[in-house]
Amino acid sequence: MKRVGPGTLGLAMVAAGVALAAEPPGPRPHVAIRGIYGGVPQEILDSGRGLQEFGVNAVWLGSGSITPERMAVLRGEGVRVFAEFNTLHVAGDLKDYPDAAPIGPDGRVSPPPDGWQGICPTHEAYRARRMNAFRRLLQEFALDGVWLDYHHSHASWEQAVPNLPDTCFCDRCLRRFREDTGTKLPEGSTAEMATALLSVHRDAWVRWRCDVFTDWVREFRSILDATRPAALLGTFHNPWSDDDHEGARIDKLAIDLEAQAAYVDVFSPMPYHGRFGHVDDPEWISRQVSWLGRRLGVEGAPGERHRIWPIVQVSDWGDPVPLEQVPVVLDHGSRRPATGVMVFAWGGLRKKPEKIEAVGRLYRAIR
Ligand SMILES: [Zn+2]
Repeated sequence: MKRVGPGTLGLAMVAAGVALAAEPPGPRPHVAIRGIYGGVPQEILDSGRGLQEFGVNAVWLGSGSITPERMAVLRGEGVRVFAEFNTLHVAGDLKDYPDAAPIGPDGRVSPPPDGWQGICPTHEAYRARRMNAFRRLLQEFALDGVWLDYHHSHASWEQAVPNLPDTCFCDRCLRRFREDTGTKLPEGSTAEMATALLSVHRDAWVRWRCDVFTDWVREFRSILDATRPAALLGTFHNPWSDDDHEGARIDKLAIDLEAQAAYVDVFSPMPYHGRFGHVDDPEWISRQVSWLGRRLGVEGAPGERHRIWPIVQVSDWGDPVPLEQVPVVLDHGSRRPATGVMVFAWGGLRKKPEKIEAVGRLYRAIR
């Protein structure tokens, strides 16, 4: 189901508005983080209000956009500052490492699905460069945490109908798979080996790929512990359950959340309901977050080792998110097991003062 007709959408908006008017959300002391993703919210500061006064107490910046000046502004506001860190989507690095382009089952370079270029997860030089960048980021800036982003296979999943090619069947991945698992593959072409990997050896292949991606997270954790141990390690990740899209989060994207939980402090699922075809069903947000809590054993209780802070969509991408829906989205995004929530994304909100005000009203109501 990609989208509904305007009539149904209109009714859903009216229903959501009525429900909200009848029962405005009150304080939610379990919600520690009321965040903004995607830039310094200068428009709020320009309005003469402090961020805390406005209701915001945390900001996520892209790691490439962090400067001492921006850190100083946010520290002056007394908010927590987190960085987003691109792991496997630095497409520009393919200029230096052309053999890091993911290979498809036919043995050829897999074209970037919808333009989303991923990277082969076993390319050692690419990986070393990302690890060094991660370390430098933590050395240079007194961050409260770093969130991994794009930590999944070559895919375009951030849409209602995902595009998930099978990769990576490069010689290096095939060799590493055989060495790590002891599996014997048929001698022959890449296509013959890929056929075996996607059929008789499928379980071992899926397990191995998940383990490769999890091992990156292990290394990020070890760097963080050695460099800035008080910082949190978070991850922005696909919000599907184990069964959604026929298990594609694990089978195709190689995101094993349970295994990554050994290293990650905060899980930030990305239930972008407008983008993913659920604009008429904002409850989808809390259903997905609820599922994640059950899966990871997180209840949203004080002192838990793992926390869930969803990033929810209030800016327009895919189906537009109506202004009236902003408080509804934040209501669903801030229900337990969530103990924090942030809005996606400041870039799309800058020119939408009514939406910014709606975010602030809700944040002040739940604090
Ligand atoms: Zn590969």
